[in-house]
Amino acid sequence: MSKNFFNYLESNRKNVISLLSSLIEMPTVNPPGENYEKIVSFLEKRCRETGLNTRRYITPKKILRKFGINEGSGRISLVADWSVGAKKTLHIASHYDVVPATDKWRTDPFKAVIKGNRIYGRGSEDMKGNIASVLFALEAIKGCGIRPALDLQLSFTPDEETGGRTGLGYLVRKGLVKADYAMSEGYSSEYVSIGNKGVIWAEVTVKGKASHASMPHRGVNAFERMAILWSELEKLKKRIERRRTRFNMRDAVSRRPSLVMGGLLEGGVKVNVVPGIVRFSIDRRLIPEENVNLARKELEKVIKRFNARYRDSKVSIKFSSQERPSISPDDRNFFKVVSRAVEETTGRRARFCLMPGATDLRYFMWKGVPALGYSARGGETWHSDNEFVYIDSLIDTAKVYASVMTKLR
Ligand SMILES: [Zn+2]
Repeated sequence: MSKNFFNYLESNRKNVISLLSSLIEMPTVNPPGENYEKIVSFLEKRCRETGLNTRRYITPKKILRKFGINEGSGRISLVADWSVGAKKTLHIASHYDVVPATDKWRTDPFKAVIKGNRIYGRGSEDMKGNIASVLFALEAIKGCGIRPALDLQLSFTPDEETGGRTGLGYLVRKGLVKADYAMSEGYSSEYVSIGNKGVIWAEVTVKGKASHASMPHRGVNAFERMAILWSELEKLKKRIERRRTRFNMRDAVSRRPSLVMGGLLEGGVKVNVVPGIVRFSIDRRLIPEENVNLARKELEKVIKRFNARYRDSKVSIKFSSQERPSISPDDRNFFKVVSRAVEETTGRRARFCLMPGATDLRYFMWKGVPALGYSARGGETWHSDNEFVYIDSLIDTAKVYASVMTKLR
């Protein structure tokens, strides 16, 4: 990028700060999904002022009902285009919803508070900071009279924090967006994310027989059976944890798949009653080399064997959701442009890594669109109290995105 351009970004830092502050001060809390209309109107105005063409999409009620959404704002997505008549389109996706805030914040979560190089506020890091950086990059490109090298399309969607199926997932499924390449939130600094693990959620029910604790021989203790089952599942877990993905991860330990039991746990009614039923949850994360159906079968096999051995109790497993791992196609040209942009900006070699958690980019990856995640850096406190983002990183992220917009073709 030209020196002129970098000067523009540095001398207009106050623009990105005031833009992010305005975004934080619209509490788009999800669930239930609040102030969506307000923020879409704000972003729409901003995009139009920058010369982009915008349109809105409303997610139909029928789809909202299907995913259990029956309260909060209407689900509105905004799509904004800057077309230069190129053959290809870079799509930059952003979600504008934020997770709720607790009362443990030291500052008002919906007021942008600046302390040195940090801006505190709910959504500062996840991911209103990115929205500010991307819009800032566009404004700087326009302001310096530069043209993108390919068509640009931006989307601003709701509900990422509750799975994204009623936001970006809907737009992608319906073919309402264009993307030869896609970018959105992900890792920061020299790290770029290229995909995420898959996830299976299940609920295991262990049924025994309740009886009075003075006559335990008349019952079958579901809690004790669960303990035996747990040790069987623990063996499966050990086996699973020996697997390693061939993809890089920022933390080496995350290269393994994982199995977490008991995130939700219930059972037992009274101190003097032999528990007749116990339930616990399973969260299973899959590396790209694993397959959702096989992972389910591994769990079912343990349970089947258990039921065959203990015939006076009954274990069942119910899968409540499953998503396969997602990984960006390895597009050399795209990866090279992003990696150069990151190196130029951070001075460090770009590192492409898989993320343990999922973002909306998976909707593009599943369609075979090359998709990379890059974000402004904060305290990695996304969903907890006192979330913040570094102001310097907002500027750097704008540089990275601007560089990609003007070099990728
Ligand atoms: Zn996010």
